Amino acid sequence: EFVPASRVTRIKSSPSVAAAGRVRELKAEGRRILDLTVGEPDFDTPANIKEAAIAAVRNGETRYTAVAGTPALQAAIIHSMESRTGVRYTPDRITIGGGAKQVIFTAFMASLGEGDEVVIPAPYWVSYPDMVLANEGTPVIVECGEDAGFKLTPESLAAALTDRSKWLILNTPSNPTGAVYTAEELRGLARVLADFPQVHVLTDEIYDEIYFGTERPACLLRVAPELDGRVLMVNGVSKSYAMTGWRLGYAVGPKPVIAAINKLQSQISSCPSSVSQAAAAEALIGDQTFVLESRDVYRSRRDIAVAGLNAIDGLACRTPDGAFYAYVNCAGVVGKTTPDGAVISNDEDFTMYLLDSASVAVIQGSAYGVGPYFRISYATSVEVINEALAAIEKSVMALS
Ligand code: PLP
Repeated sequence: EFVPASRVTRIKSSPSVAAAGRVRELKAEGRRILDLTVGEPDFDTPANIKEAAIAAVRNGETRYTAVAGTPALQAAIIHSMESRTGVRYTPDRITIGGGAKQVIFTAFMASLGEGDEVVIPAPYWVSYPDMVLANEGTPVIVECGEDAGFKLTPESLAAALTDRSKWLILNTPSNPTGAVYTAEELRGLARVLADFPQVHVLTDEIYDEIYFGTERPACLLRVAPELDGRVLMVNGVSKSYAMTGWRLGYAVGPKPVIAAINKLQSQISSCPSSVSQAAAAEALIGDQTFVLESRDVYRSRRDIAVAGLNAIDGLACRTPDGAFYAYVNCAGVVGKTTPDGAVISNDEDFTMYLLDSASVAVIQGSAYGVGPYFRISYATSVEVINEALAAIEKSVMALS
């Protein structure tokens, strides 16, 4: 009999992958589902990026590359990260992997041991706690309520840090809330970190090009350059350039952290895909029109979705400042009864009710560590968003 390793039995499969599976099943049964669970852009990869990949194949860039990536992609990352952080990184401070997800996992594998704590502000991206658990670490979840804009405060950070803390994770713009930290808020967190010099910070900035304010989201390293020796800054091309299937992400950070990650990577995958690296280099240094245009599209969808949700009695939704998600407060429907006589006792019941009665798929807030909420993705067409809003409203009105 096959017995999986304890690191497998300790963790759960990704709830967003599970939700996508449920939507696929219902569609296979012939039901039309208005899918607001999707965690990826609904756009195709821009043509200039595809052409760069095709050219790489034709040029014979089809072999293993260096573990830490090709010189061309490293140069593109150095250029892009310098404009972002003000720091000029050297190649020995870069790691490139099969998606930001893999980079984060390998970073934990390279750094965590039993008893090491990782502070994770909630609502969190579903994968962080399980990635920590899979690598022997202990997730320390800090709930960040809606009144704090779903953001970590200096007080709650100070209360969560101990002498066993190894990492703090900061995800801005956030999945699932779309919250973006201001420079002042990051400075406040940096002041607390000054008292805990052993703590490293993993900043997941994968949505940093998808923002709706006038300026690019603040960057921890830019506002607190003194943290340069302990910030691992993760990014990738999946979201900004609609390249989820290319599986290419990267991080820049302190030399010893990067060396440990790359040593593991040399035994895990040898290197990321050579073709995807060529595509990512073009994404970072080539024409940026797609980034600007898609940002405008996301912004107008956000405005439609947020206004529509707030118009529904019982639901309330803050206006997200980035990414393509909204985190909707559904406390107003908890305790109500469905036409079938079932009581909605939490956000999970409500999302099941929406799926059954409105054919709208969303993900329950409990998956992200804070309820009663649900996450919608507006990386889908305005038609689907409008149809879903009407269907949600009808279902909510049917509650008593
Ligand atoms: N970080 C966050 C917050 C995400 O939402 C995602 C994707 O859903 C990732 C990282 C992973 O992205 P990648 O496709 O680069 O692995």
